[in-house]
Amino acid sequence: MYLQLEAVFEREGANVPFDYAFALSDPVIASPVQVKGSVFNKTGIVSLEFSASYLLKTDCARCGAPIEKTLNETFSHILITHSENEAQDLYIVVDDLHFDLDALVAEDLFLAMPSRYLCRADCKGLCPLCGADLNRGDCGCKPDTDPRWDALKALMNE
Ligand SMILES: [Zn+2]
Ligand SMILES: [Zn+2]
Repeated sequence: MYLQLEAVFEREGANVPFDYAFALSDPVIASPVQVKGSVFNKTGIVSLEFSASYLLKTDCARCGAPIEKTLNETFSHILITHSENEAQDLYIVVDDLHFDLDALVAEDLFLAMPSRYLCRADCKGLCPLCGADLNRGDCGCKPDTDPRWDALKALMNE
């Protein structure tokens, strides 16, 4: 969706709401991204605030369990019409007042994504020896019986 920003920049108090969805191609995004928010001019400063929600579908990086949940992220930006400040990260420069919101939402979402997903913060993962899901209980394997450690111990004892 493109935002036309002339009216918002010209008039203090202007507020342009939006509520739409678009398809964002990513392996973990399993639904259209629903975007809801507004761009508004408050005492001459133009801000963009929105929430973006989508269905996350992936597998736990530790135990492989399927993860499926709706995420809702909120973002806000200050828009300026020309680069008047070196702090580019804080502002979004919209020189032509014709602004591609989808691209910004995509960038915000990708930056907010963790490098890996866990089914829960304290996921215990799989036993490296037998492959059992340790979230379901101890499998009884003793890490000391790992032959790699025996080889290392033998080396250290030499
Ligand atoms: Zn897990
Ligand atoms: Zn085991």
